[in-house]
Amino acid sequence: MSTVSKQDLVESVQRVVVKIGSSLLASGSGIHQDNLVHFVAELAALQERGLEVIVVSSGARAAGLNALSMETIPNSIPAQQAAAAVGQIHLMAHYERCFAEHEIKIAQVLLTAADIAHRGRYLNAKHTIDYLLERGLIPIINENDSVAVDELKFGDNDRLSALVAGLCEAELLILLTDVEGLYDKHPKEDGAALIPLVEEVSDTMLAAAQGQGTLGTGGMLSKLEAAKAAARRGIPTMIAKGVTQGVLSKAFDPKQEMGTLVLAAKNPLRQRKHWIGFGVTPKGQVVIDAGACKALVEKGTSLLPAGILEVRGDFEAGECVSCLDEQEEEIARGLVVYDARDLGKIIGAKTSEIETRLGYHFGDEIIHRDDLVLARAKEIS
Ligand code: GLU
Repeated sequence: MSTVSKQDLVESVQRVVVKIGSSLLASGSGIHQDNLVHFVAELAALQERGLEVIVVSSGARAAGLNALSMETIPNSIPAQQAAAAVGQIHLMAHYERCFAEHEIKIAQVLLTAADIAHRGRYLNAKHTIDYLLERGLIPIINENDSVAVDELKFGDNDRLSALVAGLCEAELLILLTDVEGLYDKHPKEDGAALIPLVEEVSDTMLAAAQGQGTLGTGGMLSKLEAAKAAARRGIPTMIAKGVTQGVLSKAFDPKQEMGTLVLAAKNPLRQRKHWIGFGVTPKGQVVIDAGACKALVEKGTSLLPAGILEVRGDFEAGECVSCLDEQEEEIARGLVVYDARDLGKIIGAKTSEIETRLGYHFGDEIIHRDDLVLARAKEIS
């Protein structure tokens, strides 16, 4: 990327989300105090430049190991949740002490995927974060690991940080990790080269990233997925090695090339659509025929019952479902107007038949266009 466009990019940033990975912050031997001091100084410097800074910090489970006499993160979910319960306060106490050296106050926000999937709670989280930022505090966010149940977990904080960036309408997401960025092959292989710029995260890139980056829950695949989600919201992502001296000032220096920069999509989704596409876990699936796929993707229409071939799962009206083509590829996601049982009764029906088949009529569309997000960025949404 030319230095000029990096300049445009960094100049447009007012609000930035910085995600710090577990391996940078703690291990079985405890909190990595020197790293924490380094990150806090870098974050404080960003705030000094006039930026609003939101931190997504992993490391709760790792920080709790010591107190529970464990060396590595256990497989048992209750043990992991207990480690997070111990570690989270430990981690925050360290952050609080380090930020106090810079006369910065912090706040803790713990979120679960269920909070993000619930529109009201999602907006509440946004209002809380806005309020904290307006008053100069730095919100430090983590997943509420001690209560999150497996099927409702973010899985990794990379995804959480992309959702937080979208929620807070940040202009930049920075993922700090233990490698320099994305490589064209596994970084340990001979001749592996760093990819400085990604214009769009492709499926091939996602496939190649599998297995890159070994520490933490995420790895490079989840970083690229997070960058893809952020890009759809119009937010670029930088992936960089966290322990690099001056990493965050370099991120904002147009003359410095560092890590991998993933550009924002040219046609970003608005907040509500982004929430439908990335913040909500689909509760079921509808398989649709080729004509319906074409209508959704190329003509930008709503989904009608005539194009539905099969309904899977048990969902209520208003919940999110995935629309799959006949090859099982996800084409879109959206909020359904009819529940799974009733939708099963109108598979393939003409819109004029909905009322006779169901005894009521909530609308001709199964998923209205306003509640539908296409899986791929380039097509109409
Ligand atoms: N929330 C987890 C923790 O604090 C981290 C998840 C991740 O590794 O991204 O331990």
